[in-house]
Amino acid sequence: MNRENGLERLASEKDWDILIIGGGATGLGAALDAASRGHRTVLLERGDFAQGTSSRSTKLVHGGVRYLKQGNLSLVKGALRERGLLFQNAPHLVKPLSFIIPSQHWWEGPYFATGLKFYDWLAGDLGIESTKLLDKEDALKAIPKLRSKNLNGGVRYWDGQFDDARLAIDFATTIWQQGGLALNYIRVEELTKNNGKVSGATCVDARDGKSFEIKAKCVINATGVFSDSIRKLDDQAAGSIIKASQGAHIVLDREKLPMNSALIVPKTTDGRVLFAIPWHNRVIVGTTDTPVNTIETDPQPFPEEIGFIVENAQNYLDITIKQEDIKSVYAGLRPLVSLKSGKGSTAQLSRDHYIEISDSGLVSIAGGKWTTYRKMGEDVVNRAEVSANLEARTCVTKNLQIATSQPSAQNEFVHPNLPYSIEQIEASIETEMPLTLEDVLSRRTRSLVLDTAAAQTIAPSVAGLMVKKGVIAESDKEAALKEFETRPSGIPKL
Ligand SMILES: Cc1cc2nc3c(=O)[nH]c(=O)nc-3n(C[C@H](O)[C@H](O)[C@H](O)COP(=O)(O)OP(=O)(O)OC[C@H]3O[C@@H](n4cnc5c(N)ncnc54)[C@H](O)[C@@H]3O)c2cc1C
Repeated sequence: MNRENGLERLASEKDWDILIIGGGATGLGAALDAASRGHRTVLLERGDFAQGTSSRSTKLVHGGVRYLKQGNLSLVKGALRERGLLFQNAPHLVKPLSFIIPSQHWWEGPYFATGLKFYDWLAGDLGIESTKLLDKEDALKAIPKLRSKNLNGGVRYWDGQFDDARLAIDFATTIWQQGGLALNYIRVEELTKNNGKVSGATCVDARDGKSFEIKAKCVINATGVFSDSIRKLDDQAAGSIIKASQGAHIVLDREKLPMNSALIVPKTTDGRVLFAIPWHNRVIVGTTDTPVNTIETDPQPFPEEIGFIVENAQNYLDITIKQEDIKSVYAGLRPLVSLKSGKGSTAQLSRDHYIEISDSGLVSIAGGKWTTYRKMGEDVVNRAEVSANLEARTCVTKNLQIATSQPSAQNEFVHPNLPYSIEQIEASIETEMPLTLEDVLSRRTRSLVLDTAAAQTIAPSVAGLMVKKGVIAESDKEAALKEFETRPSGIPKL
């Protein structure tokens, strides 16, 4: 991917079949589907790819055990199928992971195991390993810091895990390889119309502030928690359908919490689920489900969310979490769709995706989850073909391998606490279109999530590499570093 070449293509190719607004999992998934079917496809992201919710997930590729309890079998079955396809199509980033649900009473193990065996069965041919009942000793072997007092045993089941931002970047690479175009730092400002029908958009390049128009037979709005803002560009009177729910995580060293299996507590003190997940030699502990009314582009965890996570982790694990144990924190906003007005817990809102086609032909897709991005892409492109009279073409993403442009890690790491080499960082700068230090440190590598302090330490040398590769001018280097250093770390005082 080369942004200058992409911009030239954007200037010379005037008429696209499909314009997709938003470069998170949903938009990238739709663009991957449309481009691989052979539609002339362009995707525009106003910031960096996956800078919104799609780099801030719990990093699970899963059917959603907790939705089993809500009785939504088709959602779980569909997501388990997508989980299986992701193992096949992106094996470099998506791996199986075992999960332990600890039990305190003798009957809890068999109770969870019955539901989880059904979960295994729903996965059919694409299943992983079978669910197993564990005694106390086995449970402690898998997670030595499990609180042993009152521990009866547990259940082990299997799901998937991935690197969310890396998968998003690899989607962008694959879109280019399939003949489509995906560009970051281009914001859609207005929708243009012809005889009352949406016919394209006016966009602004965040780099130079230049404004230009794009024509497309179909425009797909895939802007997550910002979906209503694009729907309102189309129709000022459109009601809101998005309810945002914040989830937060803290990141700990694996030495603090050694584990090769993940821990899941389905019901904590207030009924919310708690995960502790080994990831890249760290452990991610979360999550929460807090309804929010203000939609921020860079949401930060609320102190009470961190308090909830720390308190519950300490309830179920024999550890004391101190300020210095927290390597980073992050928060994301779930784009839940609510077609009914009114209040209520966002934990109860459906995780299914929703597609709407407005009178002027704007196609909006929202909801769903990372795991189901492929099916969401297939569904929305099917609908777009019909609504915009595009040639109907067969979806090919079930067997489409996801490419990568990042070489595998070399031995010499750029920092003792980070698993990245200079070669990897240089390759990302050259071929993965990062424009800012944060793009490299947060999403081309996951340095900021893995260890905020280590990311700060390597920032000057990464800035040097960006200057060397011509992404940042020497005269802008100091300002770029300052901007990076003063960004909120989100780590509150405990
Ligand atoms: C805390 C948390 C944990 C989660 N964990 C999991 C998990 O483990 N597994 C799982 O499967 N799912 C998980 N999810 C759900 C999943 O992360 C989301 O469903 C998914 O990332 C949403 O992607 P999206 O593309 O719809 O939205 P986003 O990723 O937010 O993308 C929308 C994009 O649109 C862009 N945009 C907005 N306006 C414009 C404009 N005018 N012009 C151009 N671009 C624009 C934004 O910049 C943004 O990048 C989790 C969600 C949360 C909040």
